[in-house]
Amino acid sequence: MSEHGGQVSYSNCSLCEASCGIEVRHEGRRVVAVRGDDHDPFSRGFICPKVAGLKEIHEDPDRLKRPLLRRGDSFEEVSWDDAIGFVAERTVAIQRDHGKDAVAVYTGNPLGHSYAGVLYALLFAEVLGSNQHYSAQSVDALPRLLTVYEMYGNQALLPVPDLDRTEHLLVFGANPLVSNGSIMTAPDVKRRLRAIRARGGRVVVVDPRRTETAAEADEHHFITPGTDALVLFAMLHTLFAEGLVDLGRLASMVGGLDAVRGVAARFAPEWRVSSPARGARSSTAGWGRRRSASARSPAGRSSCSTS
Ligand code: SF4
Repeated sequence: MSEHGGQVSYSNCSLCEASCGIEVRHEGRRVVAVRGDDHDPFSRGFICPKVAGLKEIHEDPDRLKRPLLRRGDSFEEVSWDDAIGFVAERTVAIQRDHGKDAVAVYTGNPLGHSYAGVLYALLFAEVLGSNQHYSAQSVDALPRLLTVYEMYGNQALLPVPDLDRTEHLLVFGANPLVSNGSIMTAPDVKRRLRAIRARGGRVVVVDPRRTETAAEADEHHFITPGTDALVLFAMLHTLFAEGLVDLGRLASMVGGLDAVRGVAARFAPEWRVSSPARGARSSTAGWGRRRSASARSPAGRSSCSTS
């Protein structure tokens, strides 16, 4: 029971990956108010303006609460057993008649807010045996998924910066202040970025646009759109050329370093002088290179999905 009457329940906002803790004041099933949960150890009371939408979604008269089966131009409410039975029957029939790949699976972000979804979605897709898998990631993050697959053997192993222990954050083509730290699951990302600077660290942004995140950074470097790869290779070139690559305890886990060194050797920062790819101009001339290599806790953040 809340001090204002009604009941209080605690949950997480499911509108984005930040998963902020929320305190919901309600009378029965009627939501009276939603506010941030001050005791949530992760979000510490933070919520963004989008959270107001939760009450509207909950009360939306068009919200689907029971399965509907289309019959001609109208929809008929059916039981869950009937709905699941119908879908199973049709799925099996379609695959039998047209092959396994005739059924595609699309998964969206909300899946991550459901234990059942997290536990069974991949299993379900595997049982289907279709190679047609799509998600919000496949719209704009396939290169990233391919990269982590090649590096770590699994496209779901997306490394994220440990913002609360990072000393040097390099934000490359991302705008976490607007995306609420998408993929990083970092509620109140503005406070976390400011905390890096408050404890003596640095936040460096590389972006063709003066973004909201750039406004909070120590340094912002503009590059020509589409030249990200050139800038990154120029950075690698400089790190190798100046002997700043030190794998430390990761040395035994890393392979292919010489191959990377060989490719990076062709991308000196000066190369852009005679190249149309002028975006490398602001790359490695001075910023970031030594700091990034010598910081005790460097972290990178690249663009993904909603950033
Ligand atoms: S950042 Fe906003 S939309 Fe995302 S979980 Fe928190 S309150 Fe919800």
